[in-house]
Amino acid sequence: MHIPPRVLTVAGSDSGGGAGIQADLKTMLALGTHGMSVVTAVTAQNSLGVQGAWELPAEAVRAQFRSVVDDIGVQAVKTGMLSSAELVETVAELLAGLRVPVVIDPVGVSKHGDALLAASALDAVRGALLPTATVATPNLDEVAQLTGVRVEGEADMRRAAAAILDFGPRWALIKGGHLTAGDGPGDSAVDLLTDGTEEHWLRAPRHDNRHTHGTGCTLASALAAQLAKGDTVPQAAAAAKDYVTGALAAGFRLGAGIGPVDHGW
Ligand code: PLP
Repeated sequence: MHIPPRVLTVAGSDSGGGAGIQADLKTMLALGTHGMSVVTAVTAQNSLGVQGAWELPAEAVRAQFRSVVDDIGVQAVKTGMLSSAELVETVAELLAGLRVPVVIDPVGVSKHGDALLAASALDAVRGALLPTATVATPNLDEVAQLTGVRVEGEADMRRAAAAILDFGPRWALIKGGHLTAGDGPGDSAVDLLTDGTEEHWLRAPRHDNRHTHGTGCTLASALAAQLAKGDTVPQAAAAAKDYVTGALAAGFRLGAGIGPVDHGW
């Protein structure tokens, strides 16, 4: 009997199915793993943005986590939207007791500009959550929010990674996709993976596709799924970048706004 590696997402629900828990579970399935979820918040959301968000009590987050970990077991964990300082601290405490790879996507603001994390939670992300990470996967807005480093070109990405690594994750994957088109050589979407010693530049052709909802969640989940399957961090990051590039190229229109990336590509 084949038993797939088990991967846990600790994140928010996106009712539109494009990002959050829904994107995470699709990615985990597509990559041959068994996805499980600890829901931190429920959003009313569609292609136009977030119309409402409700956080779950810390006790509900703790209970979901214990149910999954104590019986089923996990080979890797990914975190996404954590909403508040209290939930960030709760999740950090739960993760500190685990001995499996942890991918922290320090989700701050959605592509539509909706806050998915309270400003008052940033200190807990820096001081409690990031130290638990095997890999932290901030985009450039999150780098600026967490470290004050503003990345305007590839040359700044090393500084960004160093500033993130100062908070304690083993690896930083700085996602340069928000650099404006034309910044990268050959106009590629470039990410930097480093542990402060090794450096891996991950490049993919930039796709002219506005339907990009869920890219960040998808990348972090793919990374966690690959780690659960036994990849090293550089191998997992390369595979995750390939997965996201395919999903992004196939992103499709749904609703009147920004459609989701496609997990069936
Ligand atoms: N909604 C939820 C619940 C999320 O966790 C995230 C991202 O992590 C988003 C929305 C944002 O998705 P995007 O910025 O790709 O539109």
